[in-house]
Amino acid sequence: MAIRPDEITSILKQQIERFEREVDVQNVGTVISVGDGVARIWGLDDAVASELLEFPGGVFGMALNLEEDNIGVVLLGPYAQIREGDTVRRTGRVVEVPVGEALLGRVVNPLGQPLDGKGEVRTDRLRPIESRAPGVVERQNVKQPLQTGLKAIDSMIPIGRGQRELIIGDRQTGKTALAVDTIINQKGQDVICIYVAIGQKASTVAGVVQALEKRGAMEYTIVVSATASEPSPLLYIAPYAGCAMGEAFMDEGKDVLVVYDDLSKHAAAYRELSLVLRRPPGREAFPGDVFYLHSRLLERAAKLSDERGAGSLTALPIVETQANDISAYIPTNVISITDGQIYLESDLFYAGIRPAINVGRSVSRVGGDAQVKAMRQVAGRLRLDLSQYRELAAFAQFGSDLDRATQARLARGERMTEILKQGQYEPMPVEEQVAIIFVGVNGLVDDLEVARVRAFERAFLEHLRAERPEILERIRTEKQLSDELQEQMRDAVLQFKERFRSQG
Ligand code: ATP
Ligand code: MG
Repeated sequence: MAIRPDEITSILKQQIERFEREVDVQNVGTVISVGDGVARIWGLDDAVASELLEFPGGVFGMALNLEEDNIGVVLLGPYAQIREGDTVRRTGRVVEVPVGEALLGRVVNPLGQPLDGKGEVRTDRLRPIESRAPGVVERQNVKQPLQTGLKAIDSMIPIGRGQRELIIGDRQTGKTALAVDTIINQKGQDVICIYVAIGQKASTVAGVVQALEKRGAMEYTIVVSATASEPSPLLYIAPYAGCAMGEAFMDEGKDVLVVYDDLSKHAAAYRELSLVLRRPPGREAFPGDVFYLHSRLLERAAKLSDERGAGSLTALPIVETQANDISAYIPTNVISITDGQIYLESDLFYAGIRPAINVGRSVSRVGGDAQVKAMRQVAGRLRLDLSQYRELAAFAQFGSDLDRATQARLARGERMTEILKQGQYEPMPVEEQVAIIFVGVNGLVDDLEVARVRAFERAFLEHLRAERPEILERIRTEKQLSDELQEQMRDAVLQFKERFRSQG
């Protein structure tokens, strides 16, 4: 049998015509089932992934599972009144949040709706919560420091603008405190801060907001909160929402710091909603794409190229470990996606070493380039010396007669440890940090009782501020220590030490 070409073309034409009829747009669907924060919808064949769908009563949902004959939608609000048979509308938009200056000083939920009773957020700028991370050519190297105000971090684990640095540790080791202090320290530094609270107690979040308010830090900060009582889909979108708000500022050439507190709870929320969507569980019952969950979020941190305005988004994700186990699934994932980690330990915390940073296990892979030169000069060897000291100290408690050199190293280490202690809500400007670390690394307090080192630090810095402001001023403006300035600093320390001693 012969087939004529015009026959074939006519069949093709018919099929094309019918094909177009088949994709007739359907904007309304029906709820087949609802429960556990998930609804199954029939009849919305052309909904796109993460599209916002509207349910009766103004509740929104996000399309997550697009299957052959139905779609799985996670509900982003109270869903008790949603019933089988309800109609669902497409909005044609993916999930978006309001962005811009209007959000500064506000506490909002992950959809950008206010939680602080200060009225609506007045902005008409919206941005999808998910977006593509800047590509390779749109970026440049991290080159400006992001000062945390914490001596132990700025000296040994420096963070640069555009970097991703993980804060990791067990419960109650000061993870949140470290992030909040960093936000407080951005006052006057031209950095917009976004604190994303995921799955925390509402009272804890209120405490953070109060602490920020009290120190005038809310002026340049947005708090995005999805507390533990919220449905898991809201927790799931929270970090992306916070990131989108940050990106809007980054695209305007500004510097932004985003804290995700914390990604362990975020992963747990995602596991929950994946299980109710019946996605197959894998290791630790997390769905297979849990790595992508955090990699696509953290890849959005960047230092943009000059052509793109040179803005930056620094990310400080927080991860909670169980019994110091950093080899669990989520910790290893996030460690591999970030540019370093600050590792906090309960043992150190209870021994009074606060911030409880394990120096040997903490690292910052890119921030060194951005560190202030004066700090690099004084703290160059500090990390190595200190981690060696901790080993030596652990070993020395078993031996009695130690040689003089060992004793001297122990004495130096003990005092340096004291100097690196720092209270909560006491961030310190970089010039003061440089001055006091200079004192420590040059052994200028080796002859002082360990118990008096912190008192000395306080008194000495007070003395510098009141009587020798030119020294601090020079460190701040010259940003490096000339031999002559170092000599001047040494004299100032020695003179002051006499006075401090005589005061007993
Ligand atoms: P969680 O796992 O519950 O989120 P966390 O690791 O975030 O805890 P924080 O809440 O920051 O820990 O701190 C735990 C406690 O330690 C708080 O009471 C806090 O005030 C205190 N704390 C944190 N850092 C310091 C510090 N540098 N000096 C003194 N106290 C501190
Ligand atoms: Mg915390």
